[in-house]
Amino acid sequence: MSDDSHHAPPSSRDVPRFAGVPTFLRLPHRPDDAQDADVAIIGAPFDGGTTYRPGARFGPRAVRDASALARGFSTAHGVDLFTELSCVDGGDVLCVPMDMARTQDNLKARVAELDAAATLPVVVGGDHSVSLGPLRALAERHGPLGLVHFDAHSDTFGPAWDVELHHGTVFRAAMEEGLLRPRDVLQIGIRGPLTSGTDLNYAGDKGFRVVMIDELKEDLSAVVGHIEALAECGAFYASFDMDFLDPAYAPGTGTPVPGGATTYEAQRLLRALQRVELVGMDVVEISPDHDRSGNTALVAVTVLCELLSAVALQRRDARDD
Ligand code: MN
Ligand code: MN
Repeated sequence: MSDDSHHAPPSSRDVPRFAGVPTFLRLPHRPDDAQDADVAIIGAPFDGGTTYRPGARFGPRAVRDASALARGFSTAHGVDLFTELSCVDGGDVLCVPMDMARTQDNLKARVAELDAAATLPVVVGGDHSVSLGPLRALAERHGPLGLVHFDAHSDTFGPAWDVELHHGTVFRAAMEEGLLRPRDVLQIGIRGPLTSGTDLNYAGDKGFRVVMIDELKEDLSAVVGHIEALAECGAFYASFDMDFLDPAYAPGTGTPVPGGATTYEAQRLLRALQRVELVGMDVVEISPDHDRSGNTALVAVTVLCELLSAVALQRRDARDD
């Protein structure tokens, strides 16, 4: 299916999945351009924003490896993402292990370049701080963004050790910089315990819609409805922190929190994004060294494919209208 203008993985009937140099979803590796594709998946191998256990810098590499198992046809949506979307592996952004500012600048520049070419940027982290550079780039062109955020944590907490920006403050930073439309921020899967009873006040005070894990477990369909209601509300960014999932499903993450979502619940919710206008997305907090089974990386691939399938369906429906 790969020709000069349409980028897709080779058929596994021609090339075994386990052969060759691993790239995201076995796609062509295009670290220097990628502007002619509909989608560029880029790695952000950075964990300098981590407050507990590091290792997310190894996330992109593990996801590339695990993504050999990915398949393009979504039975839920009835769409083949690789037919609808021309996709490439856009390479890794230069993330400097001990320099948050330069890392964010590089992420912003790469995402801005892709966005300007109408190539959808899809970021694989990295700790959650890597969402900020892409948000800066995308808000510059699209205006303040809505946000669909899957996470155990609100990531609107306060400074740690007097450092303002870390993976637990990324959406507070985005708010303070005017990158988000607070009434269009939906946070799903949030749970405790917390450091203090006031930890979620920032999100509440700003008007974020915070869906605690109990609400999700009691009525999944209602939460699906909350996501579907974001259609035609403007441009959105989707951000998926692996610790949204219970550590039974994704133990390989920096700050695991028991009592989370199942992979199936995640899939159901991600499928609801099909009518939301997504201008960028990320899957973050994959820390493969904390999961020797490799399952966390495979689940991250599944999340990635669900996100892309929702976009594929949206493009197909827009074309057919
Ligand atoms: Mn997070
Ligand atoms: Mn988290």
